[in-house]
Amino acid sequence: MTAAGIYISIPFCRQKCTYCNFASGVHASSLLPRYVECLTNEIIARNELWDQAGVTAAEFHVDSIYLGGGTPGMLDSWQPGDILGAIRQSFAVMADCEITIEASPENVTSAAAAAWAASGINRVSLGVQSMVTEELRAVGRLHDERTVAEAFAALREAGTCNISADLIAGLPKQTTMSWERSLRALLELQPQHFSVYMLEVDDDSRLGREMLQHGERYHVGAVPREDAVAEFYCAAVDLLRASGFDHYEISNFARPGRRSRHNQKYWTNAPYFGFGADAHSYDGQRRWCNTDSVVAYVETIEKNVPAIHEQHSLGRREKLEERIFLGLRCRDGISLSSLDEEFASELDPSAHSVREHYKQPITQFCEAGWLESEADRLRLTDRGVLFSNEVFAGFLLEQPG
Ligand code: SF4
Repeated sequence: MTAAGIYISIPFCRQKCTYCNFASGVHASSLLPRYVECLTNEIIARNELWDQAGVTAAEFHVDSIYLGGGTPGMLDSWQPGDILGAIRQSFAVMADCEITIEASPENVTSAAAAAWAASGINRVSLGVQSMVTEELRAVGRLHDERTVAEAFAALREAGTCNISADLIAGLPKQTTMSWERSLRALLELQPQHFSVYMLEVDDDSRLGREMLQHGERYHVGAVPREDAVAEFYCAAVDLLRASGFDHYEISNFARPGRRSRHNQKYWTNAPYFGFGADAHSYDGQRRWCNTDSVVAYVETIEKNVPAIHEQHSLGRREKLEERIFLGLRCRDGISLSSLDEEFASELDPSAHSVREHYKQPITQFCEAGWLESEADRLRLTDRGVLFSNEVFAGFLLEQPG
């Protein structure tokens, strides 16, 4: 049996961050218990619901579970245990399963940390974003440096030693000095994993809409320029590498042995199944996703009807393109010979290999210093990481056949 991941979507937040464009929201507190009940029902009735929707999947065993959001850390302390109980009832969960919960630092009380550890959660991903209070307040976050330190202490006291911290480069009011301060203050707390994201202001976020209207709310004028954000990111790469972290994916850095098993599934063609509003699934052949409306999700599942609103079978060419651009996100890059074996029939008849078929973008990006090729492997260079979207688009434009 293949190992799969399970993603649990908890799209609830206490307040909406100004830069956020996720399908998460601030909902009436009475909706959360109904939502959790629907989640457990959806997981337990998954075969019946998937059958109804025509996406019956083969059997898998589960080696990673990820409770993401939103802010799953705001669940009542027993609710993650109820959700995990439903997963164990419905799937074969491996004994060494990586089980992660995302939390905001202010959610991590001693009681919550103890309840999470007791339910089997063995990894916590903290949405730190910054260690500088004025940057956090500028985007609507409620914690500060002390809250972050207290969260680390509570988790370790409860026995959770695998802690990841998210940081965002490009928050309003961020400077070279304040960015370095955030990095160094977090390093002192010794997380096992970092995710560092470069803020791309989305037009659908409150910050993005304000920028489009040339408004002044949400500290629009204090958003760092794109080149400054790239410098912040490069400084993080240098500092984290020098501190012993393995830069294994564009945005992710791990202590040895602490790569995120779950997130690697998204980049390596592994299957995963999502439950909850806006949860996405992939069984190796098809992708499907649930409605992104929390209310519609609850009303649908309460009628014992699948909440799947979109499904798509991947064509072979589409799969090849995905394998290239998702694989290039990983700093190990892609093995061209494995792609040759798997996708020989998709290549241009005059080309005998993936390397030949994609000769134009490979040559162009290698000459630009954005890609490097070593024996069988093709990977982004450090500089190429900053232009990854252009590289991925170059491969997509190169239509096979
Ligand atoms: S906590 Fe996360 S999901 Fe919620 S509003 Fe902020 S960025 Fe969006």
